[in-house]
Amino acid sequence: MRCHCLLLAACFAIAPAVAGPPPPWLPRGDLARVLVVRDCNETAGDAMATRLDPPTIYLCPAVVKLARRQRPGIETFFLAHEYGHIALQTADEAAADCWAAHELARTVGGRRAIEAARAFFARRGRQEDSARYGTGIGRAERIAACAEQPAD
Ligand SMILES: [Zn+2]
Repeated sequence: MRCHCLLLAACFAIAPAVAGPPPPWLPRGDLARVLVVRDCNETAGDAMATRLDPPTIYLCPAVVKLARRQRPGIETFFLAHEYGHIALQTADEAAADCWAAHELARTVGGRRAIEAARAFFARRGRQEDSARYGTGIGRAERIAACAEQPAD
């Protein structure tokens, strides 16, 4: 089972040893062991894609770079979204969005990623309405709402 999504992990994969602020979010527990592969052939033009079995995140650095240029911080949301698919073992895009927003909301610096995602998708308006993601506005509203859900 695969799902294709936009992505973000390139900043961690490309320059993990560069001095600077820590990344705003990193996977914990079993998620920290998920394989992340930089391979644009596996993302079908998107920034990232996830395979659930075996759990693998693919990312395309060139597409990530374009997204980051458009909305800095979006890459963090995309990465958390991909981990959401694996954490929940689902291809459901809304569930992965919600997991990512909820997770990032409890992380230092995560609010920046949430705001980047909200703005990124809101800009798409209602023109795109895919069966998997809904409209851009709908996705932006979902992300904002999930970020405000109380902790478990
Ligand atoms: Zn997804």
